[in-house]
Amino acid sequence: MSDAESPDDDFEPVQVFGDETEMDLRPGSDDCYKCSTCDTNCPVAEVEDEFPGPKFQGPEQWRLKRKGDHDIDDSVMKCSNCMRCDGACPSNVPLSQMHNTARGEYVDEQMDKLSVEYLRNRMLSNYRLLASLGSKVPRLANFVMGLGVTSWLGEKVMGIPSEREMPEFATQTFREWWSERGGNATSKERAREARAERGGSQVSNPDKRVAYFHGCYANYNTPEVGKAMVRVFESFGYEVMVPPQRCSGTPMFANGMLDDARRAAETNVEEFVAAIGDGADVVASCTSCSMSLRQEYPELFDLHGIEDLSNNTYEALEYLRIHEDLEGELADTEVDFPDVAYHAPCHARNQGLEGQAVEVTESIDGVEAHDVGDSCSGISGTYGWKEEHYDTSMKIGEEMFEHMEAADADTGMTECPTCAMQMEHGTGYEIKHPLELLETALVEE
Ligand code: SF4
Ligand code: SF4
Repeated sequence: MSDAESPDDDFEPVQVFGDETEMDLRPGSDDCYKCSTCDTNCPVAEVEDEFPGPKFQGPEQWRLKRKGDHDIDDSVMKCSNCMRCDGACPSNVPLSQMHNTARGEYVDEQMDKLSVEYLRNRMLSNYRLLASLGSKVPRLANFVMGLGVTSWLGEKVMGIPSEREMPEFATQTFREWWSERGGNATSKERAREARAERGGSQVSNPDKRVAYFHGCYANYNTPEVGKAMVRVFESFGYEVMVPPQRCSGTPMFANGMLDDARRAAETNVEEFVAAIGDGADVVASCTSCSMSLRQEYPELFDLHGIEDLSNNTYEALEYLRIHEDLEGELADTEVDFPDVAYHAPCHARNQGLEGQAVEVTESIDGVEAHDVGDSCSGISGTYGWKEEHYDTSMKIGEEMFEHMEAADADTGMTECPTCAMQMEHGTGYEIKHPLELLETALVEE
């Protein structure tokens, strides 16, 4: 067990429903005393004069609803769901839960289902569907998406900014690699060998079992992150399971597609609660996925086992810091890219994890990890992929771009795949995940 303080100690999912079964947020608005701290911490309100800010989107809107049927203001679609307001509020008002619920209601009852905006948002929210098709013919899909005419059409027809470069599909998905490698049976064997080398248990050990939530991006676009996660955990003697899974729901919450999110959550809760029943803890490599499973699921859905999943989900580095002497193991190692500019995603901040990647990587001799500050990257999942938000997204990202350039490092680093896209887009840095850095330190070729 590590001496390091558990970052999990800082994380408490917001409990707003008490024993009530009805998810009514109006009482939560009473806790707001209008200090405006949330507004001053909102990256969108900082650069966008027309955005009324989180206080209006949350408690004020719900107060109005208390007075009777009141339409949701369409500005709720300008909130990027960065969730910074949640952490800023001194009164624990469940702001992002209010925004997510209001956005869901707005999309359900007020949005034109035949509008380009609705269709584009639905498509972006359901990236997994697009990616599963593209990944069947990755080279062709990458070629077509790289054409200038595709970007032009995407902007003109769907409102996807042509400045953004479409992410490439991997030629082999993470799950294809996992199956080819032998799945859970191989992982069990590798974990057993690693434990034996460390002088530990050579039989199946349920205390060393994790169920990996890889999410969509590590599966279809950056399988190297998923592979690093598996290899690093196996090197500590953990058997990795990879249950069937769907999108965590993060892009669906941000676009008010709560029915889609619920369907995805039903599968994820069922599969991962079963893995927990088999002795596994749930580990995610993407901080938005861990955020979703931990906080947004229990805040938005009432599904059997959801609290169990919330209480047993961790971000990958966080988990290793709690259960292993990670810094001690890294002390005498070497890495392939020692000079990194690190950005902490907003959703890592919301889980109290913003300092851990720099603390962990700096424990490696010769590594220089430049923290590029606490600003938002500005992309916030699908937000920066909408033409109407592109300029705002880039304005929010300016501070991070400047700090990355000033750091003058060799490689960028973050846990969030869309922050990584924005970092690369704004600075030209190649971006890696902290698990990839740990893999070069801890895993023998
Ligand atoms: S979630 Fe982010 S963008 Fe939305 S209101 Fe809160 S701070 Fe602003
Ligand atoms: S920070 Fe909290 S208490 Fe202050 S205005 Fe915002 S919601 Fe209200």
